[in-house]
Amino acid sequence: MTSVQLYDTILRDGAQKEGISFSVTDKLAIARKLDDLGIHFIEGGWPGSNPKDVEFFTLAKDFRMRNSELVAFGSTRQSASRAEDNANLQSLAGVGVKTVTIVGKSSELQVIRVLETTLEENLSMIADSVGYLRSKGLTVFFDAEHFFDGFKTNPDYSLRCLEAAADAGAGCLVLCDTNGGSLPDEIAAAIRVVRDKTSVTLGIHTHNDGGLAVANTLAAVAGGVSQVQGTVNGYGERCGNADLCSIIPALKLKMGIDCITDARLAKLTGVSHYVSEVANLALDPSSPYVGSSAFSHKGGLHVSGLAKWANSYQHIDPSRVGNQSRVVVSELSGKGNIVYKAREMGLDLPSRGEQVKKLLEQVKSLESRGFQYENAGASFELLVHRAKPDYRPSFELVDFMVVVERRRRLPTIAELEDMLSEATVKVKVGGEIIHTAAEGNGPVNALDHALRKALLQFYPSLAAVRLVDYKVRILEESVGTESQVRVLIESSDGVHEWRTVGSSANIIEASWLALADSLEYWLLKQKPNRAKGVKADGD
Ligand SMILES: [Zn+2]
Repeated sequence: MTSVQLYDTILRDGAQKEGISFSVTDKLAIARKLDDLGIHFIEGGWPGSNPKDVEFFTLAKDFRMRNSELVAFGSTRQSASRAEDNANLQSLAGVGVKTVTIVGKSSELQVIRVLETTLEENLSMIADSVGYLRSKGLTVFFDAEHFFDGFKTNPDYSLRCLEAAADAGAGCLVLCDTNGGSLPDEIAAAIRVVRDKTSVTLGIHTHNDGGLAVANTLAAVAGGVSQVQGTVNGYGERCGNADLCSIIPALKLKMGIDCITDARLAKLTGVSHYVSEVANLALDPSSPYVGSSAFSHKGGLHVSGLAKWANSYQHIDPSRVGNQSRVVVSELSGKGNIVYKAREMGLDLPSRGEQVKKLLEQVKSLESRGFQYENAGASFELLVHRAKPDYRPSFELVDFMVVVERRRRLPTIAELEDMLSEATVKVKVGGEIIHTAAEGNGPVNALDHALRKALLQFYPSLAAVRLVDYKVRILEESVGTESQVRVLIESSDGVHEWRTVGSSANIIEASWLALADSLEYWLLKQKPNRAKGVKADGD
């Protein structure tokens, strides 16, 4: 079986992506995750280019990698100088790794127009630099920059660059599609030629400018390349590097190449989400294999198929990559989605009969009014409960009032103006009606405080619940301030998170609905332990 070694460059090439700025701590944390995933080589950075990367390599010495080897990156010497005098190469040799990758030009036009040196001098630069690092006892991977573009205009010269690196002792010749514009058949054709010329291990490094980085990488592997360079989540400058989160499962599950173990493959989704958190970039839900929508099913036909055969509408079993299928409830749904979703939540809902019919009608009617349950599982679960004839909510709203006032505070040196919000809430718990008032820094905040003030008297444990995210979306932007708004709230009790939704033409009402759902949901989950409509201080 072909063997493939995985090489991740997120800490160097990936960090070029706009919006990413990794601290040294971030880089160490990501390196640990990549080690855990079983990536063979982790490119830690370019010690010759910045002090942060030197610090990274210094700190990295203290932790023992279990599966991965750390690699340092640099470039060939400049023209008309000696490799042994080059500070960049010296720092590579002294950074404490066994393997280094150096980049050099392998395209005639790049040498002449960008490097502004002769073709012969570029070959010497490659040979000298590889030779110098070899003389320091290092394994050297040679990144042949612009290889595929160079190969199109002057294949002989590009091949001579590889030959120069190979003759000087390079352990791997990494063919780069630096500008990311090649097509899979061009990659395959060039590799066939290279394969005939050298027995040195080949690698592939692609960029995604044509949306083909993954396809180009897989074409290269099919052509006999055995080192694959990419980044978790495809992070990289412009359109990104080849996405290892797509490449790894494709190699393992589709091409039968055992590049990581089954157990490590099942960590892939977790690693992808972890890296997106550290990078502070929300992961695209549609990311293949690892996105939250990668195995979600919305259409009624798909869901009824899924109920009969789990893989009827998915290309792999999502658990292989640590992901899961998800059924989305929406106005496009049939009864099947509702029943499937309810069962997923552990709720007993008969697939026929009045309850499911009523629930489906209710979901469709609420969605037409702007509610959306795809990302508000807790509100959906409440709907299922509310459709039961014997459901009793933990509290009911009688009415509320919110006042927002701009108040002038005097006397002060400079006149200060304050916005003040105050809410009064009347709720019914058990047979009792409670009336509370509270202030807040905004109307929703005031409403939240007033509602909690009322409910805490009955359910003191509710103090653990807090709002972690509050999002407002305008549904029909064209009608401006008259438009319908949807509010999504994410809440947490420190252990679990849940999401609820509210929708209305009035932002306060939409917020109230989402807020009330959040608290009602939590109380429902606590049901066996909570007081039932009895004031806590009365017990
Ligand atoms: Zn690159």
